Amino acid sequence: MLEIKSISKSYKTGNFIQVALNKVSVKFRKKEFVSVLGASGSGKTTLLNMIGGLDRYDDGDLIINNKSTKKFREKDWNAYRNNCIGFIFQNYNLISHISILENVEMGMTLSGVKRKRKKALDALDKVGLLDHKHKKPNQLSGGQMQRVAIARALANDPEIILADEPTGALDSKTSKQIMKLIKEIAKEKLVIMVTHNKELAEEYSTRILELKDGKLISDSNPVKKDNDFKDKLNIKKTAMKFTTAMKLSFNNIKTKKGRTALTAFASSIGIIGIALILSLSNGFKIEIDNFEKDSLSDAPIVITEQAMNMDQKSLEKMSKEQQKLKKYPNTKKIYGQEDVVNQIVHKNNITKDYINYLEKLDKKYISGISYQKSTALNVINYSEKEEYNLVDTKNSNVEPWTVLPDKINNNKSIIDNSFDVIAGKIDYSKPGLVIQVNNKNQVYKSTLKQLGFDNEEVSFEDIMKKELKVVLNDDYYKRVGNYFIPSTNYKELYNNKNCITLKVQAIIRGKKDKELIANGTGVIYTNSLVEEVIKRNKDSEIVRYQQDKDYNILTNQTFDESKDFMNTKELALSYLGADSIPAAIYIYPKNFNAKDNITKYLDKYNKEKDVKDEIKYTDTAKMISTLSGNIMNAITIVLIAFSSISLIVSSIMIGIITYISVLERTKEIGILRALGARRKDIKRVFNAETFIIGIFSGGLGILIARLLIIPTNIVIENMSNLKNVAKLNPIHAIILIVISVVLTIIGGLIPASIASKKDPVEALRTE
Ligand code: ADP
Ligand code: MG
Repeated sequence: MLEIKSISKSYKTGNFIQVALNKVSVKFRKKEFVSVLGASGSGKTTLLNMIGGLDRYDDGDLIINNKSTKKFREKDWNAYRNNCIGFIFQNYNLISHISILENVEMGMTLSGVKRKRKKALDALDKVGLLDHKHKKPNQLSGGQMQRVAIARALANDPEIILADEPTGALDSKTSKQIMKLIKEIAKEKLVIMVTHNKELAEEYSTRILELKDGKLISDSNPVKKDNDFKDKLNIKKTAMKFTTAMKLSFNNIKTKKGRTALTAFASSIGIIGIALILSLSNGFKIEIDNFEKDSLSDAPIVITEQAMNMDQKSLEKMSKEQQKLKKYPNTKKIYGQEDVVNQIVHKNNITKDYINYLEKLDKKYISGISYQKSTALNVINYSEKEEYNLVDTKNSNVEPWTVLPDKINNNKSIIDNSFDVIAGKIDYSKPGLVIQVNNKNQVYKSTLKQLGFDNEEVSFEDIMKKELKVVLNDDYYKRVGNYFIPSTNYKELYNNKNCITLKVQAIIRGKKDKELIANGTGVIYTNSLVEEVIKRNKDSEIVRYQQDKDYNILTNQTFDESKDFMNTKELALSYLGADSIPAAIYIYPKNFNAKDNITKYLDKYNKEKDVKDEIKYTDTAKMISTLSGNIMNAITIVLIAFSSISLIVSSIMIGIITYISVLERTKEIGILRALGARRKDIKRVFNAETFIIGIFSGGLGILIARLLIIPTNIVIENMSNLKNVAKLNPIHAIILIVISVVLTIIGGLIPASIASKKDPVEALRTE
């Protein structure tokens, strides 16, 4: 059943070639006790390794069941070792971190043998060590350890036992006991034992082979008849189960708890960092969302004559066009760039149609719509220096004067929700002014000048006493030929009895919790003022004159919208107060969610319209919230990037530690390979180890992060009165553990693959 045919093997170290076996041929019987004798270095171990399939021969053949092994593949050798061969080594080669029972079981564990526990116990009983089954190898004497090794070799009932100087490390009394045991075994099996002890060989074995310099020089009992060859060897494939790999690694990890804990802790730091950042940003996002929902719920959607053109589509189009051009070109040309106005300003042509469309907006979404007409205000002040001045309300270098949004449905106005009235009272029904101050009670100095104050500080009382005059068209403009010229006699205009007298009705300041949307400053006038001015100007001489002419009677420009979209008759008339189409529309959503429905409705209007006919709106609330959201996201990404570095460092560290573990466990790798483990199985053992460390460090990281969140939240609460801001999203926690496992496994892949490539013979030789 087993025959070696002219086998040769040589080892090459550098330029030196050592012939370890030189054309050795032997046939073996199914049952005999063969001793191999020879001086040190004569090739005994090499011969055994060839027979056991631990090492490959260079030349010749090993015949198993009359079949050549020349075409054997890795997995065939693995299966052969596992099923047919039991190894006994001089230095026992037990795995130190598992019990002797588990050592005996290991070969069967690898091949998935059923009832392995019973077989292992039987084997231990046979070598007389049943009482010691739960001990670890290092709790036994040398003789006992060799018995364990014998039990392991016997456990799966292989047909061939290979023993390499099994008594070499034992005293003579113990040696005899072991030899008796092996002799007993040899009654049932083929035992091939290497020894240099001639007496023992002659006393116990049934056949003696002698090697010298790699050559077989004598055989005391060669096989003559081929009768013994009819019996066949039975070879099954082996495969390590993942649970076995896990168990091996887990036991190994248990033997170095301190190191594993430190490794896991070090590599969990990245996870802790990311978990904390995520829970903070997660918490803050929730806080900001709630805060915005509260404070921005009453921010209107605004439609004005000019809207920002900053929608995503047009911005993308523009940047694409810009990117087509090369930087620092060599061409001798200048190229035209899109005008700034076209880039960012969109002219909204608010038509009657559009207003009708708005009127059909579902009333359940809105608390009101306010339409505002615009008109030029010819305002004159009387300053503290007793001078009369024309106030530039539109093109001021400060804030243009704006219209106060009218009260809406339920008698509420944006003012009530977002502002405190800190002096006076707003009367929407009367022409008048409202001054908005910022949270430091400031307005621009030029605003004070507009109101007629030269000091840098003015009392509420003085401001509320101040009178400004709005001059009507017929008093202000005088016709000269085909044109109209404004009067500059401000004193006379101021004192004209037709003037509308303006007083500051109230001073308002943004509420503390509305800082986000209500911290501007400026002069606001009531819609009643606009209505009054339009009412009294719409039949003025200048309006009637303008209606008949195709040029601007104030500037002498011919109307041409294609050159300047602000240069239209419509706008000129609206400026003079003849207009009935609103210049601004404020839509007040009922709540935050209703707003989305409103914007959807407004977007629907723009579908299938030319860009120039689109009506763009400004969603104040969204602008603010996307801004703050983007900032949060950017900060989070930067912080996570930093923490990721520590994650990567830690996975490299895990790789190094796994590599050290590979070095430490080289012997174990050899033993497992001798027992029939495949390369794949060895890889699996180390991947299991990194898997365990990965789970452990991920879990530890999440646990520590959870604990750190407690003091973090206390600090935040002390600083900002916000309770329990940092919250770890469970999904984030799971993802982080998975990332930790994946990274550590990646870190361990290279060492695991190094381990699996180790040569079993060399691995066994390490101490
Ligand atoms: P024995 O077991 O009889 O003492 P071995 O079979 O171990 O001898 O070795 C036979 C010869 O081959 C020796 O000269 C030894 O130095 C050499 N040899 C064995 N293994 C290797 C190896 N892996 N690399 C190089 N030389 C080796
Ligand atoms: Mg040897």
